[in-house]
Amino acid sequence: MENKKQAEAARRAKLLKMRAERLPDIKKQFEENQKRNFNANFAPGGKDEKLVRGKRKAASKATKSVAKKPIKKSNTKATKATKAAPTATDKKREVNLLVSTRKGEMVHHQRMLSQDVNAQATQHIIGIPVNKSRYNGYNGQQVTMAQIKSARQHRDAVRIIPIGGLGEFGIGKNMTAIEYQGEIILIDMGTLFASEDYPGVNYMVPDAKWLEDNRDNVKAILFTHAHLDHIGACKHLLPYFGPLVPIYATSFTIGMIKKQMSELSDVPDMNYHEVDPFRHESIKLSEHLSAEFVHILHSIPGNTSIVVRTPNGNILLSGDWRFEANPMGTPADYDRLLEIRDKEGYALLLNESTNIDTPGTHPHSEYDVGENMGRVMDHYANGRVIISCFSSQVKRIELVLKEAAARGRKVAFAGYSMINNVEVALRAKAIKIPKDTIMKMEDIIKLPDEKVTIVCTGSQGEMNAVLNRMVSGSHRYIKIKATDTIVFSSNPIPGNEPKVVSTVGGLLREGAQVIQNGKTHLTNIGPLHLSGHAYYEDHVKFVTDMQPKNYMPYHGEFYMLQHNAEMAENVVGIPKDNIIVADDGDIVELMPDRTIHKNGRIHVGNKLYDDADRQVNEAVVKDRIHISREGIFVVILTLSKKTGRLIKTPDIVSRAFIYLDNSEELIGKIRHYLRAKTDRSIASDDDIKTMKEEIKEDVTHILFDATGHTPIVIPVINKV
Ligand SMILES: [Zn+2]
Ligand SMILES: [Zn+2]
Repeated sequence: MENKKQAEAARRAKLLKMRAERLPDIKKQFEENQKRNFNANFAPGGKDEKLVRGKRKAASKATKSVAKKPIKKSNTKATKATKAAPTATDKKREVNLLVSTRKGEMVHHQRMLSQDVNAQATQHIIGIPVNKSRYNGYNGQQVTMAQIKSARQHRDAVRIIPIGGLGEFGIGKNMTAIEYQGEIILIDMGTLFASEDYPGVNYMVPDAKWLEDNRDNVKAILFTHAHLDHIGACKHLLPYFGPLVPIYATSFTIGMIKKQMSELSDVPDMNYHEVDPFRHESIKLSEHLSAEFVHILHSIPGNTSIVVRTPNGNILLSGDWRFEANPMGTPADYDRLLEIRDKEGYALLLNESTNIDTPGTHPHSEYDVGENMGRVMDHYANGRVIISCFSSQVKRIELVLKEAAARGRKVAFAGYSMINNVEVALRAKAIKIPKDTIMKMEDIIKLPDEKVTIVCTGSQGEMNAVLNRMVSGSHRYIKIKATDTIVFSSNPIPGNEPKVVSTVGGLLREGAQVIQNGKTHLTNIGPLHLSGHAYYEDHVKFVTDMQPKNYMPYHGEFYMLQHNAEMAENVVGIPKDNIIVADDGDIVELMPDRTIHKNGRIHVGNKLYDDADRQVNEAVVKDRIHISREGIFVVILTLSKKTGRLIKTPDIVSRAFIYLDNSEELIGKIRHYLRAKTDRSIASDDDIKTMKEEIKEDVTHILFDATGHTPIVIPVINKV
């Protein structure tokens, strides 16, 4: 005990000493950076140039700085000095803004705001991301623009380029390119659901600029499985390639892609090939590249890993996977993966990272989940049972149908994606359903409650999904009542917890019973969900079994990739130099001697879409964030065409900022300012332009002075 304490004290002392030694250096560097930024900002052309222009003039006349004079006066002078617009200098009319805050304070507020808005609206990879991981491919050193610019590709390298899915905020947008001597194959085209940080944005799609530039080189497009984070971007990206490029996937996945494409107003002709992974067929994709699909388990039918055979060895892309001792449907073709390992080996393994932070291994199977659904139906036999889960969990839906049929219950589906997915699964023969169990919603509600089971979307608390509509009473057929039992057959995706909490609260307020996965102690029923992704120990086994020469984590946020890499080095024993933690856009080269390194980057980014599948510009998102924080303020002036003079009281419109009825004094002040400002003829277009700029700035200042906020100010000048 004493020893431990001593060791801890010694360690802390050492740390403090190290920090003390480094502190002067860090401080010096910080100060230098500050100085550099400060000077650059205030230099001509810098973003704060305006703030010093007045001072500079004064200094050049060798007079004293104006800064020390009383606030109001100095402000007027500073305004005078800064408003040196070339077109209207002589006509310039100074108006006392009657404010007590300095303009610099307003500019500071605006700058902070714009930094916040930018940070919120651009949480994805742009430029060169910071990556000083020990597995970053540059010995832990941050790669520089110069290094990237001077990168020259090796002709005989196989290039692995993640276009999306690595180091994002959230999991999604999965897309990987593999290139060899100008032949490109693509694996997956996913979407990423946007967080609340992006107002009005529903999902994101990888920016395909690089693909647009290399379209003719794309020889084939492959899909591992049909989750939206792997196929969601099809309707935006596939039409681009047309029928010349073959698309390979299992039948269920192709069905889901076709369903998605059918939503397009102009459905493009595509070249689909259904793959049967049990044929162990090596599909020739181009002169040098071929691929084999291997069936592996996940939470959706038709799921596969893909082995890409290249001149520099085999690349195994794990796709999404989990181990299951007792799976529903066909077991994983794990033996085939082992067979390829034995016969050919894997030069590189790209392994998914979703649940790398979850210890252990899956403790139960889908069958347990199904049985527990049955127990819910037994325990709450007198009321309706409403089960919400991910709409792609068609195998679980099959279990619910079985349990319901065994108890004489009928089942209806609610939610567009739920109905769609069941249809596709039936057509692809991915599920079997008991006879006479499924009913339409409008029919099932006529049955007594104890016969009714409903499977619906909304387990993530999505506002517009069926479950929430049932709570709010806006669902056409179902309104939650006290005898209902609602099962959450899922876990909240990180970030969705508050929404799930609110949905659960709404259900409980209606007096209903709520049974959530992971809360077995409350109801004695569970588990009610099984994650589709492997846990830590599963990864250890998988990577150990595959014996890859090189290793690259994918499908995960940065911390997941890093933890996955640490597992591969520390537990499996893959040497550090054979492991790469890459970001979207990094070019990873696999060489003929089976070594691996990073070499340059391609342009990657995000395209944002709303819930009507229309693209949203990032500038629009920034405006929305700005307005949501500060509001919008419109000033409308009406001038006579003849005289150029104001002919009526200025109109003022305020939205999301202040409630006008309670702000007479402030509005009076602005009207007064506007009258004084326009107390002359404004005739030319130049005059109007200058006037608009000045009004925008002055009104912003008056509003900031009164409220501490800087809404978007829009001056409108009409001539009648
Ligand atoms: Zn998946
Ligand atoms: Zn996935």
